[in-house]
Amino acid sequence: MPKARRSTADAAHTAEPPPRPRKAAATSPAQQALHKLGLVRDIDLALHLPLRYEDETRITAIASAREGEAVQIEGTVTASQVQLHPRRQLLVTLQDASGSCELRFFSFYPSHHKTMGVGARLRARGEVRGGFWGRQMLHPVVRSADVELPAALTPVYPTVAQLPQAYLRRAIATALARVQLPETLAPGLPPPPMAFHGRNGHQSAWTLRDALLFLHRPAPDVALATLEDHSHPAWQRLKAEELLAQQLSQHAARRERAQLAAPVLRPAAQAPALHEQLLAALPFALTAAQRRVCQEIAGDLALSRPMHRLLQGDVGSGKTVVAALAACICIDAGWQCALMAPTEILAEQHFSKLIGWLRPLLGERGQGVAWLAGGQKKRERASMLEAIADGTAALVVGTHAVIQEQVQFARLGLAVIDEQHRFGVAQRLALRKKLDHLGQEPHMLMMSATPIPRTLAMSYYADLDVSTIDELPPGRTPVVTRLIADSRKDELIERLATQVAAGRQAYWVCPLIEESEALDLSNATATHAELSEALPDMRVGLLHSRMPAAEKRTVMEEFKSGRMHVLVSTTVIEVGVDVPNASLMVIEHAERFGLSQLHQLRGRVGRGAAASACVLLYSTGDSGRLGETARERLKAMQETNDGFEIARRDLDIRGPGEFLGARQSGDALLRFADLAGDTGLLDWAREVAPLMLEQYPELAAQHIERWMGSKSDYLKA
Ligand code: ADP
Ligand code: MG
Repeated sequence: MPKARRSTADAAHTAEPPPRPRKAAATSPAQQALHKLGLVRDIDLALHLPLRYEDETRITAIASAREGEAVQIEGTVTASQVQLHPRRQLLVTLQDASGSCELRFFSFYPSHHKTMGVGARLRARGEVRGGFWGRQMLHPVVRSADVELPAALTPVYPTVAQLPQAYLRRAIATALARVQLPETLAPGLPPPPMAFHGRNGHQSAWTLRDALLFLHRPAPDVALATLEDHSHPAWQRLKAEELLAQQLSQHAARRERAQLAAPVLRPAAQAPALHEQLLAALPFALTAAQRRVCQEIAGDLALSRPMHRLLQGDVGSGKTVVAALAACICIDAGWQCALMAPTEILAEQHFSKLIGWLRPLLGERGQGVAWLAGGQKKRERASMLEAIADGTAALVVGTHAVIQEQVQFARLGLAVIDEQHRFGVAQRLALRKKLDHLGQEPHMLMMSATPIPRTLAMSYYADLDVSTIDELPPGRTPVVTRLIADSRKDELIERLATQVAAGRQAYWVCPLIEESEALDLSNATATHAELSEALPDMRVGLLHSRMPAAEKRTVMEEFKSGRMHVLVSTTVIEVGVDVPNASLMVIEHAERFGLSQLHQLRGRVGRGAAASACVLLYSTGDSGRLGETARERLKAMQETNDGFEIARRDLDIRGPGEFLGARQSGDALLRFADLAGDTGLLDWAREVAPLMLEQYPELAAQHIERWMGSKSDYLKA
């Protein structure tokens, strides 16, 4: 569901027509907005819960309304006029027994003027200001005083501009009245651990129906704080439901996958095995952590159900060679392996070593490597496609081009996705379909350098097996990180000049301005010019996302070969490169980058034996100081080089919802529960989910359907 903007478009007089029957096609902007928010079924609407509440159950006497307080007053209109100066406005005087208050509207329709004519009995809700001319309300919400006062608090729902609050309230009320809410928590299962605080000390079990009805229309005497912080038992009940749905769908996906067939990938008996040849050819020995994860992966590949494994390890921990070894096992067993990275540069950089290792070994066996990317020549592409289709290409490397429909694999056994979080769900699904013609699914290995903290991985991704490389190859010198205010940029450039003269190479990453690629570019161009001028004897290159692929490649090659000394680059994306001689990383406007991005960027240096440094150049802007989260991020960078610690701090700073949300590019799944705060409920859901699938499969299915609806497909990818 797209995130609802927190707006509270309220409309008392601009009455929208009531929602039409749901079967009609979405036509009005409001109906379209409902669909966009994923509010399609009655249950979706019932589960769309208020952000906050307004108290319209009480009337405050005008004389006792305090300045700045939001109140509801009721009275008779004693004056009503449109004034033209200094600005066109409607002024209405409302009088009750205690005093009077002026209602002021700058935007209004003629109909407003009419309904608020002299003698009308009205109710107005808004903030009272004690202006020079007496009490005033600016743009209050106005209703007729003829309707009865509501008995419950009025919900304010998250919505978007096209969907007026009043319309949404009516749609939800209609849905609530109509929706079927059978209990899905079977009585035979352990009940959720909720803080029951029923009246008189009784334990009161909340059913889903009770909880929902209460949360949509709470009694005015409720402790509002318990609704706001979601600690109220009705909220707990709902969060338990949600977490259970999430765990159920993960477990169900795992079970479903266990039913699927995948090729058994075991090195053939023939000697020598490809992976042994590769190990012998490597200029280094595997670390203990690499050996361990290789075993975990090999174990999965030897099974006849598809692997679904995340390989995580810090930047530079040596994931590529692990992928190469997995590819060897796959190819040895007579199947094809596909390797995918999100951009052409990344695909090339990440896999060039791997290709270098494997090409000669494959060549001896009459097998080849195919390369697929967007900007490829037609003829080249055609011959690649042919080699993939007839199976002579044992290894297929590329970008998203690999999953396009025209790419037909003869026998895809294993798909490896690098930087997995940058691929969408649809793309992972497409990959899985590449073995449909043999009635099987390929094994999947996803790689990521931004680790998910272990507890989160275990609980949230119940459907994913995780392998972790938790040590770096020996001989790395830790990168020293410095924070420098950008007022000292000139000084930094001078120091850079000395370093470069001494034979070091440097990256200079330019500010990330999300709103505008054009601004990014002009920034990078300016920096490039500035550095070129300051370093007249050195070669300073520029790399940005809008350059043609061939040009990017040339720049990268020059930098890699050492002919270019400084590389100015716009985007993070393009910098996923392996140039061991580069030992200096400058990140301009570091305060604008996310923590994991900063860590990724820093990982580009410290790859060789030379002592490396990372300079975080920050700007405090007009305010003269850094925002709190920016300061925390930069501090974390300075204090630790450990990717897992960085991930943990990132989680602390951002909270799990956002942390996972950002990783999962839009498919953040929990709306109400909070993984860090609701651990008791999460533990319960983890315990109950497998029992429920086992003992009450129909209830489980019903529960998943209720919460996930059309989203459940996504969970399987
Ligand atoms: P990442 O996990 O970030 O993808 P890479 O696979 O690119 O890391 O590895 C980083 C560098 O370390 C590469 O140059 C790689 O060849 C090297 N490397 C990998 N494993 C080892 C090892 N066990 N010993 C020494 N160097 C290694
Ligand atoms: Mg890598």
